[in-house]
Amino acid sequence: MKIETVTAKVFRHRTGIVRDSDGHGHPGAESQTTSALLTITANTGASGHILTRAPDVSDAVLGRFVRPNLTGEDPLCTERLWYKVYKWQRLSGGLLTDRTLAAIDLALWDLKGKLAGQPVWKLIGGYRNKIPAYASTMCGDDLPGGLATPEDYAAFAEWCVKTRGYRAMKLHGWMPPMPGAPDPRKDYAACAAVREAVGPDIPLMLDPHHFYSRTDALWLANKLAALDFRWMEEPMEEASISAYKWLTRSTTLNILGPETMTGKHWTRAEWVRHGACDLIRAGVWDVGGLTPALKVANMAESFHMACEIHGTGAGNLSLACAIPNTSFYERGLLHPFLDYDAPAPYQNRIDDEMDAEGFVHPRAGSGLGQDIDMDYVEANLV
Ligand code: MG
Repeated sequence: MKIETVTAKVFRHRTGIVRDSDGHGHPGAESQTTSALLTITANTGASGHILTRAPDVSDAVLGRFVRPNLTGEDPLCTERLWYKVYKWQRLSGGLLTDRTLAAIDLALWDLKGKLAGQPVWKLIGGYRNKIPAYASTMCGDDLPGGLATPEDYAAFAEWCVKTRGYRAMKLHGWMPPMPGAPDPRKDYAACAAVREAVGPDIPLMLDPHHFYSRTDALWLANKLAALDFRWMEEPMEEASISAYKWLTRSTTLNILGPETMTGKHWTRAEWVRHGACDLIRAGVWDVGGLTPALKVANMAESFHMACEIHGTGAGNLSLACAIPNTSFYERGLLHPFLDYDAPAPYQNRIDDEMDAEGFVHPRAGSGLGQDIDMDYVEANLV
């Protein structure tokens, strides 16, 4: 069996999310945006797909780094193909990103699942057939009745837990340019209000401003420990392992990381080696795909550490259900003004449907478990 074609189709769709001046998403006026569908097809006619951002799979990147390495290769050899493409990163001048690597790896796994007639979450381990989700909020905002005050967070937490059935919740705090941000005291006020609203038994987590000082991060960590929070993630720039080592040793709160730090499974092994975190972070879109993310999870397990999966979507859900050492699937980002359960225009179903008890069930069909509306994509090509 051989890979014949690697193609990307960019298509238009509406979105109700707007970006602030620092790049954080919030509910806003509807506008038009684009996404891309990457397709890898074998000479048997079988295809693997993944939805991604258009720049990740530009024709320039596919033509220079991807097609020459994949065409004619056996699509089942995902490890070999990951290395073939990855080695081009070093001299790509930054053009070949981890997100491109992730898109290729995920499309190959989707293809492998379809060729095997099995869901990917089973092919890579199949540890569980359902997983509790945590409600992961958008960042704080200044929208009346949105996520503008600690009381807003508390009201939304009550809805998430008591009405929608979530069993855990993670707040993203207020980030610049929101009024008064960054301020660890304001983050703490929202966390305290949410703990009060949901009671003592719901696991809670915080993802605050990512550029606090050591002392602000430690103050916040100790306050969250008193609220029995499960973890805090990325309160400082992650390039400083020393700062995270200091923070992890200085507080009883669990510190989770690294999330955005580059370096794939190699960086995460260094964080464990240096004691820079209590819980390891990996998302398929952060570490270059499912292939390296599995290595992170297995490495963490060998040190009796949880690997908490970052981000949503079929790839991360497949990973979370495949491995034993994770607690939750991250479902979001959520906001009181948005209906997360409504499919995007290019989906027949969302990747991560959740039942009334707060569990997400990976799909039984072959591949990653995406249900893409191919007719919509074809009808809206750029
Ligand atoms: Mg995060």
